[in-house]
Amino acid sequence: MDIEAYRYKPPKPNYLPHNVDMDPPLVEEYNQPLDRPSDMENATFFNKIKRAAQTYGITRPKGYNVSFHTNPEMEKHHFGQTHPMKPWRLTLTKSLVMSYGMSFAMDNYIARTATYEELESFHSSDYLDYLATTPADDTPRDDYDNPDRPVKFNLGGSDCPLFQGLYDYCSMSAGGSMDAARKICSKQSDIAIAWGGGLHHAKRSEASGFCYINDIVLAILQLLRCFPRVLYIDIDVHHGDGVEEAFFSTDRVMTVSFHKYQPDVFFPGTGGLDDNGPKSEHNPGAHHAINIPLNDGITDEQYEHLFRSVIGQVNERFRPSAIALQCGADSLAGDRLGRFNLQVQGHAACVAFCKKLGVPMIIFGGGGYTPRNVARAWAFETAIAIDCQDRIDPVIPAHTPWRDHFQHEAALFPTLEQILGEPRNNKNTAKRLQEIVAHVGEQLRFVNIAPSVQYSVIPPDLAGIRDEVEERLKEESEAKDENLRRVREEGVGVAMEF
Ligand SMILES: [Zn+2]
Repeated sequence: MDIEAYRYKPPKPNYLPHNVDMDPPLVEEYNQPLDRPSDMENATFFNKIKRAAQTYGITRPKGYNVSFHTNPEMEKHHFGQTHPMKPWRLTLTKSLVMSYGMSFAMDNYIARTATYEELESFHSSDYLDYLATTPADDTPRDDYDNPDRPVKFNLGGSDCPLFQGLYDYCSMSAGGSMDAARKICSKQSDIAIAWGGGLHHAKRSEASGFCYINDIVLAILQLLRCFPRVLYIDIDVHHGDGVEEAFFSTDRVMTVSFHKYQPDVFFPGTGGLDDNGPKSEHNPGAHHAINIPLNDGITDEQYEHLFRSVIGQVNERFRPSAIALQCGADSLAGDRLGRFNLQVQGHAACVAFCKKLGVPMIIFGGGGYTPRNVARAWAFETAIAIDCQDRIDPVIPAHTPWRDHFQHEAALFPTLEQILGEPRNNKNTAKRLQEIVAHVGEQLRFVNIAPSVQYSVIPPDLAGIRDEVEERLKEESEAKDENLRRVREEGVGVAMEF
């Protein structure tokens, strides 16, 4: 058995820096929550989105249920002014989803924070303790200016800063993804959307690439309690290394990552075509990691064709009983860190294709560093989930909060020329893409059709922990209801005396 991948690796310094073409202008910081400033404005906004839902004919999808998991508190966190990760992109996404009236077609949940015990089902306790107790620190520890301040668990460097409220932020992101998984397991949702999750680089005892807690791994562990086989698909521009590593030695999870691959200059530097899991045929995980390495400038047409060919083959052979789809939006054209020529339509075509497979699915967020384009893609992908993609207006509704941030005449689908001026040079040849598809077919020949469940790798009883928490919260809310009832009764009593 290949145990190398499981061995603890000491945290690396900022080893393969994200390569930014030019110094981007400082992205503005936002503090406003989505809620309108007054009750009156909230009511006006509510009426507008209600009308939008009627105008676009947005109703609950027929024959299946979609849930939307968010936590507004998570959106208020800041990685630092110059850091590319802006949690505010989640506010902008939600604002666009609501403005189209899509919220009326879904079950909307405020995600609860994940408990320490839940996080511990993947992460080590010494890592979690450090994450929870180390004070916020604005000065990056491992930068060239601060060579004497080493990082622990890769925390505190410029990629993974120790910002204010970090542990809460991580628990909220993980809580949303775990809630999504639980709704899928309980069959209350057929598609569950958690745009605040998708943080695919985090390792068991190491933060990496802006990711601290691997909410995807936690959610998949939850899915494995109910489903024999989970297919993980990752369309972020970066390799989904943390998820691949976590399920390296099992045949119950197949990971497929599409990403830019240029080991020396592009993060994280892993995910070559020949990296297909453990090398030993005796390890059940062998051939269960599929990597699709791509070059700069890939187009919608190429990407869609490749995605259909690869996922079509994988689906036939592996027969997943649930799908976890990471929709990192840094694969879109014009992303601050990305390198592709993908438009919203091409990115979203992956979601549409997966949805057609008719398997329960969690849709996660992920990377995405140009907030307006992240919001466009994730709102349109939400529309696909609820089956109203053909009915929504390609011009962003006039009442959308922060509408001026979308630029490009508020188009939902700006052209490549509008986004980039000049599209990136496409370095993906048809011949290379054919080779990739052929290689995947070759790997899949080694995969047993619908492998059996190995009870030895059934994850810990997360549901038990969760049920306890549910019970406690229910009791608290009942106690609150009782108080409310009393207050109301007293109020009514007073009114009647008059
Ligand atoms: Zn990414």
